[in-house]
Amino acid sequence: MDIFAVFSARFPYALTEKNFSFSAHTTIGCGGRAALAVSPRNTEECAEILCFLRQRGIPHLFLGAGANSIADDESYDGVVVRFAKMKALFCDGTLVYAGAGVGGAELLKFAKENGVGGFEPLAGIPTSVGGGTAMNAGIRDGHFCDWVERVVAVDQGKIRTLSFKECGYSEKNSVFLSGIAVAGVYLRGIESFAEEIETRVCYYRTRRANLPKGRSMGCTFVNPVGQSAGEIIDRCGLKNLRVGGAFVSPEHANFIINEGGTSSDVKKLIEEIKIRVKARTGIVLREEIRRITEGSKNRS
Ligand SMILES: Cc1cc2nc3c(=O)[nH]c(=O)nc-3n(C[C@H](O)[C@H](O)[C@H](O)COP(=O)(O)OP(=O)(O)OC[C@H]3O[C@@H](n4cnc5c(N)ncnc54)[C@H](O)[C@@H]3O)c2cc1C
Repeated sequence: MDIFAVFSARFPYALTEKNFSFSAHTTIGCGGRAALAVSPRNTEECAEILCFLRQRGIPHLFLGAGANSIADDESYDGVVVRFAKMKALFCDGTLVYAGAGVGGAELLKFAKENGVGGFEPLAGIPTSVGGGTAMNAGIRDGHFCDWVERVVAVDQGKIRTLSFKECGYSEKNSVFLSGIAVAGVYLRGIESFAEEIETRVCYYRTRRANLPKGRSMGCTFVNPVGQSAGEIIDRCGLKNLRVGGAFVSPEHANFIINEGGTSSDVKKLIEEIKIRVKARTGIVLREEIRRITEGSKNRS
């Protein structure tokens, strides 16, 4: 089956990209290629496409801004569903609706223009609204789960609205990581003056200035309760540990930096860190990053 021809004929409105490169579309900058990527423009198109994929049993996975994701080096014989074209943005008072493809910076800009504050802890975090909602992205001062009121989603090919409770939030987790697509999110902010918002955005951006530079996925492991994964890795003496082109950042031990390495390098390094930390401390580190080929098991 020529999947590209099938998609072009069936969904002429959606942007379809053949031979999609994961390394070009993820911040870690490695991974192979997928047969096809498709970008619906709105919730209805997204549901139509996901329904089609589901009915035909075509493997598929979701990709937002690719800031927390790593794909295999091998090619993926399935479809990458992207959300980048789903850019709806509107607000009613302090309730903002953002489509899954809206970027974190775009959300902050729109909120500021409309006098809605509260989302500033997102400043500087590379994210799409869909990926951030699924990952519960944020920092100690605020995560998506603090703002989400309800989520418009595509579940098993059907559009449905999930209440906050139904999102099943916990540390870096939500029901959306088990294959329910986030199409858009209603986020509750607070009334604020644009100048106040700008000041807070600058504050949070400045706080991030010392984070490691280079290609990464941000923090690799979830912090164990009451502890810092970075400090644990550092105490085990693993800064600068290297596999091929991937190494543990000397500045922040929870960051893995990729300098021209493969996904296999990154994954081997992750395993090595886990093994050594377990051997030295007994702590089992849980990955925060997403191995996105798992998404082929999507239920959407
Ligand atoms: C330099 C750097 C700094 C970072 N700092 C932080 C930080 O301070 N705090 C923090 O929380 N994170 C941080 N991260 C990680 C990353 O920014 C967040 O996890 C972000 O929310 C990922 O969003 P994304 O759109 O890139 O998701 P992706 O990486 O594209 O996807 C992540 C997961 O969500 C799924 N997904 C994507 N879109 C959807 C959708 N619409 N519906 C359902 N599932 C979807 C994917 O299948 C995948 O499983 C950092 C990353 C980098 C590179």
